[in-house]
Amino acid sequence: MIQLKSKVVKEKPELRSSGSGRKRVVVVGAGFAGLSAVESLKDSQTDVILVDRHNFSTFQPLLYQVATAGLNPGDVAFPLRTVLRARNHARFEQGTLASVDAEKHFVTLEDGKTIDYDYLVLGIGANANYFGIKGAREHSHAIYTLDEAIDVRNHLFRQFERAASHGVRDGGLTFVVVGGGATGVEMAGAVAELAHKALYTDYTTLNPDDVRVILIEQNSRLLEAFHEDLSEYARRELRARGVTVLLQEAVESVDPGKIVLKSGREIENGLVLWAAGVAVPPVVNHLNLPTGRGGRIMVGSDLRVIGSDSIFAVGDVGLAVNDKGDPLPQLAQPAIQGGRHAAEQVLALIDGRSTSPFRYRDKGTMATIGRRAAVTEMPVGIRLNGTLAWLAWLGLHVVTLLGSRNKASVMLNWMWHYISWGKGPRVILGG
Ligand SMILES: Cc1cc2nc3c(=O)[nH]c(=O)nc-3n(C[C@H](O)[C@H](O)[C@H](O)COP(=O)(O)OP(=O)(O)OC[C@H]3O[C@@H](n4cnc5c(N)ncnc54)[C@H](O)[C@@H]3O)c2cc1C
Repeated sequence: MIQLKSKVVKEKPELRSSGSGRKRVVVVGAGFAGLSAVESLKDSQTDVILVDRHNFSTFQPLLYQVATAGLNPGDVAFPLRTVLRARNHARFEQGTLASVDAEKHFVTLEDGKTIDYDYLVLGIGANANYFGIKGAREHSHAIYTLDEAIDVRNHLFRQFERAASHGVRDGGLTFVVVGGGATGVEMAGAVAELAHKALYTDYTTLNPDDVRVILIEQNSRLLEAFHEDLSEYARRELRARGVTVLLQEAVESVDPGKIVLKSGREIENGLVLWAAGVAVPPVVNHLNLPTGRGGRIMVGSDLRVIGSDSIFAVGDVGLAVNDKGDPLPQLAQPAIQGGRHAAEQVLALIDGRSTSPFRYRDKGTMATIGRRAAVTEMPVGIRLNGTLAWLAWLGLHVVTLLGSRNKASVMLNWMWHYISWGKGPRVILGG
């Protein structure tokens, strides 16, 4: 019989106030923003309850690599109980936020459970914006969760299997990506690399020339947030990978197996990937909190929700602005810095100090296109592309990942991927 070593049981915060006099901070959402807030409260005299609908944190920037069989799902997911294991100030509660009672200071989860708070930090992220385009929600795929990434991978490989068994029919090997921002460019590049390489090695009865990857962008250039030279570089690199880039084309509707553009063009396809815009989760509309541009929750300069003295909204879901009054981008860095700032303001309020305004420090933006091709733009005007930018992109993503096992696994997978020309987990899961 194996005997487990007995452990000292550490006290963790309970759901109802223990009367300890310590303030209760409830953090909803265990993404970049929520985890940064929890971490920043670690040496404080607060009891923290972290709530998330999943029992793991997802590293969204690498989801597209799960979708294209570059990484395993477990590489980009980190169990939250493991994150909090060494954190005595915090405990985890799996649940989905349903409502907030701002007057009585409690949240209600979908299963009916309520949790009291003294301070609430909302960091529930974002999901896809379909702009009301007919059929887009129903007949396209977005990648915001691990389930969605696995679903895309399944779908891609089902299309390959179908084509191998029955021949290429009805555009079955045409993959359309909508949206030429960083996510769309990454997806288009990765799908093109996967499709061409997988067909050469695993589906040898298929002709790689039958694969079409089409990237649709309604603006006149890709990667609008980057300098024009980098946009042009991205377009060239995508073309070199066999991606057809359609600029100044907008989507009219998405039907099963067909996408219709406003120009009248129709494209039969096997999969539409939606990377055209970001919206807040639908639950935000039921929280009775003020919302602004993009449906994001309106916050003051200290990141407290307008009209509330104890609720903060951070990351993608909060409408924080820069010095010029422009909304901060929905990216990892504003979320990390915002989560940290909210935690600091909670501590200031507990101590009876006044709060301070949030100042976002822009550390630069990156996007990858594929093997040895990426773009990096730093705030000081430095712009990189090619192998150097790609290596910087790889390094930064490994450093930001949670957990040593995940870091090691991702690095190993990438090395293997590089040497073997992309032989990753090419499996169809489920029925
Ligand atoms: C495919 C993709 C690629 C990206 N690539 C990059 C990149 O290269 N660089 C970059 O900087 N940014 C990138 N981003 C954007 C970046 O991931 C987000 O800006 C960032 O994750 C926002 O952090 P957040 O904490 O606000 O939200 P998230 O990280 O999305 O976390 C939100 C958390 O809230 C939980 N949640 C949601 N609703 C509820 C609910 N009702 N109840 C309980 N829990 C809930 C979710 O499960 C999740 O854990 C990418 C995003 C995507 C989708």
